[in-house]
Amino acid sequence: MEINSLDCPKCGGSIPEQIRRGKLFKCPHCGSTLVWPDKQATLVLSFGANLCPDCGVDNEPTRSFCRNCGTSLTKTCPQCKATLYVGDSYCPNGHDFEYLRQRHEYEQQRLGRAKWYLDFIDTNLITNGYTPIQIPEADKAFYRSEFRLVTATTEHYCIFRYFNETLTPDKVRSTSEQGFRHAEELKTGTNLRCYPVIVTDNVPSNVRDFIRSYNPKHFSAIEFPVIVELASGELYYYTGTPLYGFAVYGGIRNNAENLFRFRKSRS
Ligand SMILES: [Zn+2]
Ligand SMILES: [Zn+2]
Ligand SMILES: [Zn+2]
Repeated sequence: MEINSLDCPKCGGSIPEQIRRGKLFKCPHCGSTLVWPDKQATLVLSFGANLCPDCGVDNEPTRSFCRNCGTSLTKTCPQCKATLYVGDSYCPNGHDFEYLRQRHEYEQQRLGRAKWYLDFIDTNLITNGYTPIQIPEADKAFYRSEFRLVTATTEHYCIFRYFNETLTPDKVRSTSEQGFRHAEELKTGTNLRCYPVIVTDNVPSNVRDFIRSYNPKHFSAIEFPVIVELASGELYYYTGTPLYGFAVYGGIRNNAENLFRFRKSRS
């Protein structure tokens, strides 16, 4: 059913198109609570009682469920868990319900994505011959030993940490150093390749610049930090080529791409 003009039943002001679709909303002219129930095409005006968002019937403020259809009339503040009427914007303690709800939902999405990525890493690294290991402070860690005649044994470590907060160059440096130190303590031979992998939602531009030129030096060991940006699927790491490691660094970067990238688009 199409309705082309709707006026507030109390003040007669016209209701903008975009807010008519909501179940409970405030008249932009007089502030009355209005409802456009699912089951009828008319607006119902609140007279101070708790309107049911589904059927539009008014209810006593003490009711938790609609007297007509049984729909819940309350919601819980995400911050303080106080109970409020479904049409209220603020909880009794002054928390902005809609803002908090959206933030909570966004947070759940972010954590869900991080969990998904770490599960993906599990599968991908095990498929590539790595073994899961335990490393302090790490969300995940993996080990692989590789034997070649020329270099003898090289030990590979991939150490993952998820950051829910904004990254800084200092945080990247200290996380990378910490992962590398743990790998050094665990190694049994001489050659070590360590990938400290920082997983985060968004990478600030100063951190991108930092990691592209960050290349810590060690004797017969390589510390190669990688940042995985979950929002875009992009990887960030050192892009230069040191004179002493021309061939080695190409291999290290290919390896990082193969192991850590979850979105193989960009053709
Ligand atoms: Zn009005
Ligand atoms: Zn109802
Ligand atoms: Zn609250």
